[in-house]
Amino acid sequence: MSRFSSDFTLGILGGGQLGKMLLTETRKWDLKTAVLDPSAAAPCRLGTDHFEVGDLMDYETVYAFGKKTDLLTIEIEHVNSEALEKLEQEGVLVYPPSKVLQTIQNKAKQKLFYIDNDIPTAPFSRFAYGSEIPDSVAHGGLQYPFVWKSAQFGYDGQGVKIVRGPEDLKGLPKEECITEELVPIEKELAVIVARSSNGETSTYPVVEMDFHPEANQVEYVLCPARIPEHIAQRAKKIALRLVDKLQHVGLLAVEFFLTADESLFVNEVAPRPHNSGHFSIEASVTNQFEQHLRAILGLPLGSTESKIAAVMVNLVGEEGFTGKVYYEGMKNILEMPGVTPHIYGKKETRPFRKMGHVTVVASSIEKARSEAENVKRTIRVISKEIQDE
Ligand code: ADP
Repeated sequence: MSRFSSDFTLGILGGGQLGKMLLTETRKWDLKTAVLDPSAAAPCRLGTDHFEVGDLMDYETVYAFGKKTDLLTIEIEHVNSEALEKLEQEGVLVYPPSKVLQTIQNKAKQKLFYIDNDIPTAPFSRFAYGSEIPDSVAHGGLQYPFVWKSAQFGYDGQGVKIVRGPEDLKGLPKEECITEELVPIEKELAVIVARSSNGETSTYPVVEMDFHPEANQVEYVLCPARIPEHIAQRAKKIALRLVDKLQHVGLLAVEFFLTADESLFVNEVAPRPHNSGHFSIEASVTNQFEQHLRAILGLPLGSTESKIAAVMVNLVGEEGFTGKVYYEGMKNILEMPGVTPHIYGKKETRPFRKMGHVTVVASSIEKARSEAENVKRTIRVISKEIQDE
């Protein structure tokens, strides 16, 4: 069946901001879409042909939704992968494949995949029960400091804790987890690689992610990263190896740690469009959302070349504000040259919730970086209704 016919429906699991930006591209090509999300107020409620409210982890819900589509993709990886497996068996195209999702959904499984496929990653241990950690420390198997990570459902640093001593042990959740050696990180990098259903691959330039020191969340993404070319080439090579070994279809965002001695470790991967690729909407010949569509539809991949240097600024809810959102300073940032805000359409703000992003383009990465700081100082995501004490 032609992808460009009125009989063809692309299903998207998840209706958040990534889905919303994907819908901009499906509209561009007038592809028919259906979206499933647990919230009736999700950003994707507008812009899709069919919107359904339902639990993404529920087998029956995902299966019934998938049956109405010809091709199913995701914008969040926490979906019921057994339902996807069944849909694949029944002829629905599912990209990313259910097998890739099953490898990625569990951090222990993901890490084992890296080891089995010679992908450099921080040394780790796996624990079926969090209660085994104090024993392991007591017997010298585990030494401070280390990083604790929930095996399931980590998101934006929520399932990650740095354990520096016995005090930090007390608060650890008692669930399945991994522990990792604390890497002396010099820079955090990311590469988005696309692999189409025909096996064609293509990488975006390596980007640099600057983190907010307290929230453990990405504050700025810089494209290109300020690193030597040989490191960028090495990161791209690892990303290409990963996407091939996974036999993935679609985008794969690969996050790295770079150390002072120029070692690269894969931290984690996401099999979908990613925050570290938002710069591409303004700065690349083909943006990441269009590239994802090209890959899953089996079309030729587009050029990933940059037209201009760019810095993406994440807009997150200001601390101390919860409730109906208000974007203070929008007019002021729109006066700045090369600045494009994206508002995700979430009704309520809360501290550190991702509410939008702003792309700053300029003739050099240094110029874009300093303008990005001006943007950050000028715009605030607040609420005028309820203010926390
Ligand atoms: P999430 O899946 O919630 O995004 P990550 O595994 O990416 O969590 O970890 C969030 C952040 O915590 C990383 O971006 C990094 O700054 C820090 N971190 C994670 N693992 C390590 C490690 N082994 N060593 C040092 N810092 C780490």
